[in-house]
Amino acid sequence: MDKSTNGRKTGDQALVRRLNTAIILDCLRLNAPLSRAEISTKTRLNRSTVSSIVSHLIHDGFVREIEFQKDRLGRPGMLLELSPDGACAIGVEIGVDFVSIMLADFAAQPIWRKRVAIDPQIGQPAFIERAGDLIQDAMRQAKKTGSRPLGIGVGVPGLVDVLEGELVFAPNLKWMHVPVRQMLMKRFDMPVFVENDANAAALGEYYFGVARGVADFVYLSADVGLGGGIVLGGKLFRGKNGYAGEIGHMMLDPNGAECGCGRRGCWESFVSPRVVARNIQTMLRNGTASLIRDLAKDDLNNITFDQVIQAAQADDAIALDALQDVARWLGIGIANLVNIFNPELIVLGGALARASKILIPVIETTVRENALGQPRETLQIAISAYSSEACIVGAAAIVLDEILRYPFP
Ligand SMILES: [Zn+2]
Repeated sequence: MDKSTNGRKTGDQALVRRLNTAIILDCLRLNAPLSRAEISTKTRLNRSTVSSIVSHLIHDGFVREIEFQKDRLGRPGMLLELSPDGACAIGVEIGVDFVSIMLADFAAQPIWRKRVAIDPQIGQPAFIERAGDLIQDAMRQAKKTGSRPLGIGVGVPGLVDVLEGELVFAPNLKWMHVPVRQMLMKRFDMPVFVENDANAAALGEYYFGVARGVADFVYLSADVGLGGGIVLGGKLFRGKNGYAGEIGHMMLDPNGAECGCGRRGCWESFVSPRVVARNIQTMLRNGTASLIRDLAKDDLNNITFDQVIQAAQADDAIALDALQDVARWLGIGIANLVNIFNPELIVLGGALARASKILIPVIETTVRENALGQPRETLQIAISAYSSEACIVGAAAIVLDEILRYPFP
């Protein structure tokens, strides 16, 4: 008997079935509810293959039948969708001074969530240990709801070696070479995926948010700095070593202000909330009148971006000027991205989403004035579906994505 040939044949069949399972799950994710016949038409898989795989997925709790009715092709049958209770994923965001966590169902809807402030002074091992305690809490919640955790996704604020699950460098925490996956896998017996926070958020928008089904888009989020995630052809663009997407450090003025990365005039040094607050602080110290002073209760050292937004909404001239300036610089950077990537959509997340009413009109005008005509014609600008939770949704989405791409045989 030729064992090697037989082995290969069996392996091929298993692989084909896995790929077909992934295709069916993806089809349901994008188009549910669907009948078996519709899945067959959309995926071009034959009816018996679809029926067999769907039975398996229903048995495993990944897919459920919801109602008996005529489908869009006029044929009667049970409609199917991804089962929210089938399994769950744990999404974690390690921030500069907090850990945020979510237990998400199979459709990335939150079952349970928590956010805890952590002083970075406690040091990196204790910080990760604390994140582990919160994961433990999430596991307990999963047990209570009878849901099966499939894995843990972790978004971190820095450069990530995705294959190794290592945080290579986190500039705002000053952490280097932290083996996050290894540390968590010692404690939890399940897959752990580590990703840059903005990349995770971009994937969250792609799988479950405003960029669902959009193959080419750029996600932008400003909180401490300006992070970005670039999705091209339906895939996160990682570059050679996985460090792509650091668009906050696109240089716009070599003689500009010094940036956290040590260079000058980076895009984030014009638009990050921290810089806006600092600029306003300087102006108010000079005695300029502004509602922001009252909102900050005269404590100029603690002006927040949200206070600036609030003052702008009340027509405060200083706040409006500051946000319009941010919007113009955002528009200039976005015009560059439009010329380079010709994206269909730009998604604004984090603090940018909270200020979107003021920002978007100015961004649109600036992009119109600065991007090439053809790529800007079809461009849409939208705000994140998840705002400050985009990273944890995305981290959970990474786990679900692995299951959608590599489902059980
Ligand atoms: Zn920089």
